[in-house]
Amino acid sequence: MSALLELDAVERYYGADDTTVRALDDVTLKIEAGEFVAIIGQSGSGKSTLMNIIGCLDRPTGGTYRVRGVDVAGLEPDALAAMRRDTFGFVFQRYNLLTNATALENVEIPAIYAGASLAERERRARELLAKLGLEGRMRHKPGELSGGQQQRVSIARALMNDAEVILADEPTGALDTASSEELLTLFEDLHAAGRTIILITHEQSVAARARRIIEIRDGKIVRDSGARESRERTLAYRKHVSEPALTTQISEAVKIAFRSLRANLFRTALTLLGVIIGVAAVVAMLAIGEGSQKQIVSSIQKMGSDLLFVRPGAPGTRMRGAAIATLTMEDAAAIAELDNVKAAAPSRQSRETLRANGIDYQTTIQGVTPDWLSARDWKMAQGAFFTSEDEMRRANVVVLGWTVAKNLFPDMGDLVGKFVFIGNAPFEIAGVLAPKGATAWGQDMDDVAVLPISTGMMRIFGQNYLSDITIAVKDTKKIEDTQNAAQALLLARHGTEDFQLRNTASLLQSVEETQGAFSLLLGSVAAISLLVGGIGVMNIMLVSVTERTREIGVRMATGARRSDIMVQFNTEALVVCGLGGVIGVLSGLAVSLVLSKGGMSIAITPEPAIIAFASALATGLVFGYMPARKAARLDPVAALASE
Ligand code: ADP
Ligand code: MG
Repeated sequence: MSALLELDAVERYYGADDTTVRALDDVTLKIEAGEFVAIIGQSGSGKSTLMNIIGCLDRPTGGTYRVRGVDVAGLEPDALAAMRRDTFGFVFQRYNLLTNATALENVEIPAIYAGASLAERERRARELLAKLGLEGRMRHKPGELSGGQQQRVSIARALMNDAEVILADEPTGALDTASSEELLTLFEDLHAAGRTIILITHEQSVAARARRIIEIRDGKIVRDSGARESRERTLAYRKHVSEPALTTQISEAVKIAFRSLRANLFRTALTLLGVIIGVAAVVAMLAIGEGSQKQIVSSIQKMGSDLLFVRPGAPGTRMRGAAIATLTMEDAAAIAELDNVKAAAPSRQSRETLRANGIDYQTTIQGVTPDWLSARDWKMAQGAFFTSEDEMRRANVVVLGWTVAKNLFPDMGDLVGKFVFIGNAPFEIAGVLAPKGATAWGQDMDDVAVLPISTGMMRIFGQNYLSDITIAVKDTKKIEDTQNAAQALLLARHGTEDFQLRNTASLLQSVEETQGAFSLLLGSVAAISLLVGGIGVMNIMLVSVTERTREIGVRMATGARRSDIMVQFNTEALVVCGLGGVIGVLSGLAVSLVLSKGGMSIAITPEPAIIAFASALATGLVFGYMPARKAARLDPVAALASE
């Protein structure tokens, strides 16, 4: 039968070449189950190094170390963690309790990594604390406990998984004489109950309490009083050998996450703010984009489904309006003769300067037919729109938009019958359009002057070409036939397809396309702010890993695998981002509501909220990964030694 612990010519060197420190040099040692061993030596003699190797926190650089016959050199990090968890309970000089956790929570930690259920964990932890005389102190945090009490909590923690071996590194080092005495008695009791105790100390009086004393100097064993006894002890507590389930891992990690977030409230709030702003921006921006699209679409739909639009220029050309000279008044007249066509309204526009009272004002002159007013659903503020008769006579009449009227006649008054000059020709003002305000794009709709297209063709536009023709059909069911007929007619008249004929549906489609691009732009601006929030999360997680290095060491010493640490820190990042996501979605909705109350067209749909929340979680996963990996790869010994 192999001994419980067996070191054979173990070496542990630090550094390389001339700076090499031989912390352990050719240590050969057997420790049997049930022994009470003291390892004594001066400071720097290699005691802690030996304990770290015995406890599987560290591996020898030379020689072999076997636990129950298993060579630890061949073990993967996770197997090593399992070995620590199932075999060793650590007691440190500085207790190494987690400061934001209660005594009870501290004691439970090793059982979490051994896959014990919540209820079982708590029952066992309470039992142990009670046995160690800490009944009234379970809900206290380490800062509210005396040194002796803290050390007893750490012993309860060491016993939690019913470890076979208690490894105590100078456990009385920070205690007063009375507490030391209590602690040593406790070790004697544990030994009597069958546990293997390895006690490290530099004090002769402490070592004298053990059954076997091993003295170490400069990394070598100089004295060994020899093994006194060997016995198998009966386990009082059934060991959990199962690996913790992912759900346990996560639910514990969430608890820890909230604890550590609470511990740094202000910092948490700032980090959250970054995520909240990003998520809220995504939600609000998409609501704005969606809203403006809905508005434009509905204004197109309001125009009716009985309209067809003809524009000059071959399909796919970017140029617009009268710059392309292909559509004529004769085209409009010919289309008007087609079957099922109610009206074919030609229109032409250009930028011109109007003059009245010595004031010059440049605006868009639009030549249209008399039915334009009702088609645009526009009201008159003064006078009347021009008539069919005006159009036939090519009368010099004009209807002013509100902005134009205001600029030419600052005092307003009754403008009907007054004259404005366009070029050198005087035009009588027939009326003034009621103010309409700005479009969704911020374009002033009142900055326009309207006159009969026949007049415009003759006196203003110079060329005889149209900017567009709007066709109204009689029977909307046959609109497709009419569109085809108009297409064929224009093709026959022009010989080539130098025009574009569209219906409301295709117009809607193109609006949706441009609006989609607009939403994408808004969305990407918002996504960038979410990215910045994510970088903030990563930053704070890296700080947190550095600050909590010792905590990570303690968790590793109590059996946490790399994956446990990884899950823990990833979960913390996820919790921050998830919390920020929820608050951000709510804030984004609130901002959208405020904007829509302020008159902006906003469309609130579930998709942006879902997308933003999912992005926040993804941000947490991505930006939490690096810090979590950094934490998981820490070396347990170095982590435990950190300040
Ligand atoms: P003890 O616990 O008996 O006081 P240690 O085992 O901590 O001694 O240290 C033994 C020797 O190894 C000391 O000389 C110490 O300076 C050295 N040592 C310990 N850890 C490291 C390390 N991480 N890097 C370099 N030297 C180390
Ligand atoms: Mg030491």
